[in-house]
Amino acid sequence: MEKTSGLPFQQLLKERGLKSTRQRDEIARVFMESADHLSVDELCQRVRQKNPGIGYATVYRTLKLLAQSGWASSRQFGQRTARFEQRTEGEHHDHLICLICGKIVEFASERIEELQSRIAQKKGFRIFDHKLELYGHCADCLAKKEMTGKKVKEKAAHE
Ligand SMILES: [Zn+2]
Ligand SMILES: [Zn+2]
Repeated sequence: MEKTSGLPFQQLLKERGLKSTRQRDEIARVFMESADHLSVDELCQRVRQKNPGIGYATVYRTLKLLAQSGWASSRQFGQRTARFEQRTEGEHHDHLICLICGKIVEFASERIEELQSRIAQKKGFRIFDHKLELYGHCADCLAKKEMTGKKVKEKAAHE
């Protein structure tokens, strides 16, 4: 599927009897140009940089439509707010999530995918989809923690 072609999204709008409005098109465009994992709030902010009048509800509904038409997938990442990322046919990746700064890092491993299929096969499962999310502290946050830890120790040594 060609990512840049907006046709399926427009078709979905038509099927649902929704008009392809300038606002919806603009929201979809901004989303497609963003490579990261966006919450509705973050997409709202980006869209409003150029179009201050666009409402939160319109952004939310458009994201839901994008998800329903297969252009976006929604992720929870252990938080209450959903994040949306672009979906590319045939591409799969999993995520590392930092519990301190919220950074989200993508990774893909054929070995993990293979292992998962083998486990599913053994258990007699047919897998349609999966999400692997690893939660922890990222390298930057670990470095910061180590630095403040050192400072505390140094201070204690001086006292
Ligand atoms: Zn972090
Ligand atoms: Zn991702």
